[in-house]
Amino acid sequence: MKLAHDDLSQHGRNQGQATSSPSPLWRAAALIAGIVFAGALFGHLTRPLGFLSTFWPANALLMGLMVRNPGWARPHGWAGAAIGYLTADFAMGGGLGITLWLTAGNLTDAGIGYLLFQRIADTDRRLERPQSLLFLLLIAFAAAAAAAIVGSGCLAVYFGQTPLQAFEFFLTSEFSSNLVVLPMVLTAPRLADLAKQLRAHVRPGSWRLKAALPGIALLASILLATTTGGSSAIAIPVPAILWCALSYGVFPTALLTFGLGLWQSTVLLSALTPGTAEYAAALTSHRFGVALFSLGPIMVAAINAARARLLEELDLAANQDVLTRILTRRAFLLRSEAMLARNLAEGSPVALLMLDVDRFKLINDEYGHAVGDEVLVSLAEQISGLLRRSDLFGRIGGEEFAILVSGLTQPATLALAERLRDGCARLRVAIGRAEPLALTVSIGVVWGTGGPASSLQHLLKQADDALYRAKRAGRDRVVDETLQAA
Ligand code: GH3
Ligand code: MG
Ligand code: MG
Repeated sequence: MKLAHDDLSQHGRNQGQATSSPSPLWRAAALIAGIVFAGALFGHLTRPLGFLSTFWPANALLMGLMVRNPGWARPHGWAGAAIGYLTADFAMGGGLGITLWLTAGNLTDAGIGYLLFQRIADTDRRLERPQSLLFLLLIAFAAAAAAAIVGSGCLAVYFGQTPLQAFEFFLTSEFSSNLVVLPMVLTAPRLADLAKQLRAHVRPGSWRLKAALPGIALLASILLATTTGGSSAIAIPVPAILWCALSYGVFPTALLTFGLGLWQSTVLLSALTPGTAEYAAALTSHRFGVALFSLGPIMVAAINAARARLLEELDLAANQDVLTRILTRRAFLLRSEAMLARNLAEGSPVALLMLDVDRFKLINDEYGHAVGDEVLVSLAEQISGLLRRSDLFGRIGGEEFAILVSGLTQPATLALAERLRDGCARLRVAIGRAEPLALTVSIGVVWGTGGPASSLQHLLKQADDALYRAKRAGRDRVVDETLQAA
């Protein structure tokens, strides 16, 4: 896990630099060599006595990194990878013949996988659709089969396996490693995005037991499966990992399935004794189980993420004004009804501000409709910046806006209205080479204090009247419901 994380950090950093100052080819090659070396060493350490590795993440790691960063998939990158494999093998005391042969098999897995990934859509490479998992499955299998064709003869020659046994061993090893490692590498956020996500979601004191429960359940089920053992222990964490998939998103789920795959390929497998007659058959079955196990949770997480994106788009389409990105008239009215009812029930004061741009028609006439649109966008941004998160702000007509605020005294509301008027008057909208544009607004203010006079319709009507008075009194001013200029 640590390896992959470090690799990804390097990867993200390299990507960031790519646009400004491309790193020399040798640096990328050295980085790849280091990543492959570390991945291969990790694989060697999970090797049961006298036999080949049970878990070999290096090839899938290399494949995933090449897919994420196609600029690396050049001769120098592949040469760096070969050096990584060879040095790890030699460091572990491998002979020249076997090392070269196995390296050819390893590079075949990563290379064929990389070529096949180039043939699918970008969204599928990022596992953003449920169908993406089927592409992943096919590519993981095809790359593993190609690697087995190239490399498995080595096992027959050096370990005395029958060609079929050797092929089966190689194929299942590559297949399960590909499926356990690739989702994590393909879905890892870039470093800058990761920092942004962490800032958005993890605030001090925001840790809740509820959010941690799926992870705790997963740990408990792993403990249970480890003590229970037996041929079906691999399936014991299924409910908990599905719960995690529904709760945490695609990348965290991919990280967890990687951890599970590691546990399944090492701890669970250690119950089998290498060299026995049952071992080979059990190993094949186990590896297929590990490989296919990871598909379910990641597909659930992908479906859930796609559904969340769709809901967000729908919510925006229904509630956000396309030009100014504030609430639409409909959304403003619906939310205002609810806020009004809630606050009046609690006895908390509510105020409605109606704001209209002065002489907006002149701006359109003089500079064109597109400039008029830009003015509306800048104005909405300016006003949003002066409001609290709890205030409702909507575009209820062409150049007419409404704001509902709660919990403010009457003087505080008038002070806010005055700040808004002043903020708009100080706004300057850049319009190409001409002088920046200045504008003013008029604002009508009313208060809801309970009773029938506080219905939203009534408040809207009164605020409109106050606004009309502000226009009549000369514009660029605030007028409250007593119809007095503030
Ligand atoms: P007043 O001070 O009395 O409010 O004068 P006004 O010119 O602002 O008022 P009027 O209602 O006569 O004109 C509003 C203009 O707003 C007319 C319309 O073309 C323009 N408008 C409405 N929606 C949009 C929009 O989405 N974009 C642009 N550029 N203009 C819009
Ligand atoms: Mg106007
Ligand atoms: Mg108007």
